[in-house]
Amino acid sequence: LYNMVQDLKGNIRVYCRIRPSFSSESKNVIKFIGEDGSVVILDPAKPQKDGRKDFQFNRVFDPTSSQDEVFKDTQPLIRSVMDGYNVCIFAYGQTGSGKTHTMSGPSGGSTRDMGINYLALNDLFQMSNRRKDIIHYDIHVQMVEIYNEQVRDLLAEDSSTIRSCPTDNGLSIPDATMHSVNSTTDVLNLMKFGEMNRMVSSTAINNRSSRSHSVLTIHVHGKDTSGGTLRSCLHLVDLAGSERVDKSEVTGDRLKEAQYINKSLSCLGDVITALAQKNSHIPYRNSKLTLLLQGALGGHAKTLMLAHVSPEEDSFNETISTLKFAQRVSTV
Ligand code: ADP
Ligand code: MG
Repeated sequence: LYNMVQDLKGNIRVYCRIRPSFSSESKNVIKFIGEDGSVVILDPAKPQKDGRKDFQFNRVFDPTSSQDEVFKDTQPLIRSVMDGYNVCIFAYGQTGSGKTHTMSGPSGGSTRDMGINYLALNDLFQMSNRRKDIIHYDIHVQMVEIYNEQVRDLLAEDSSTIRSCPTDNGLSIPDATMHSVNSTTDVLNLMKFGEMNRMVSSTAINNRSSRSHSVLTIHVHGKDTSGGTLRSCLHLVDLAGSERVDKSEVTGDRLKEAQYINKSLSCLGDVITALAQKNSHIPYRNSKLTLLLQGALGGHAKTLMLAHVSPEEDSFNETISTLKFAQRVSTV
């Protein structure tokens, strides 16, 4: 049933999440959020009518939406992984727009308001348990970071750079350690370890975690009582911040970093757009990220883009550019 519902809706979906405002002084530029997935935003520098821009997505979550509400709308997609579908979920948006909040939850290691990563694994364990008389499932995870087109294993003791071409089945990342998980405790421990590994490098290079993509991959292997098997995976991706840096102000490493991010995010946009338009050539090879996820993008795989925006006036330009990107990959 999950798949029937999903098939009706198409394989590429785009949701928009607007985070709460943290500044009481700043004007809110997002004026209207429709039940039907529409968003209206007003340019603070222009008179009402001229500055109005309309966007349409599959769903919009307003600033009051809870983690559970966002998860509920994502759940059918996640459950389809248990039926053998490959799924990619991306959190896109400028730094500070709420990507990590949606995927991991609030920082500080509390177990309240957990994000999609944790809730997804928890749900997969529950489904696996419910089906245990008909199918035996094994669940493994990998977690890598892509920084300046280099891939690092966040779950290895020695998290040095690794090779990243996909394996024959296109699903797993060779050389990245594979960890069996059986409970949410296992998951919490691994995530803590991965986060720590990410933090270590962020002291060396300022704020690196927002300048890299992090990919949590959940591998599902099912065996039914008659010997039939299925293999699928779910990629949960917290993308690098999409903000444009002012080229006149950055030089050297920061400029290189920004160029890598721009390039890989625009490659991701190109791949999803090409898939949505059912083009014969899909430009997977233009970035590490799309190359890594190739086996789970396109074909029967399902993709969800979660576009994150800040409601504040001073983020207006980035908000517009995020909504435009999201609109471009959307098929609504
Ligand atoms: P990003 O990963 O896009 O840089 P974060 O997820 O780190 O952004 O969010 C920036 C800040 O805003 C964090 O302190 C986070 O806890 C908070 N935040 C983001 N989204 C929400 C939300 N929906 N509800 C409450 N706080 C949020
Ligand atoms: Mg983040």
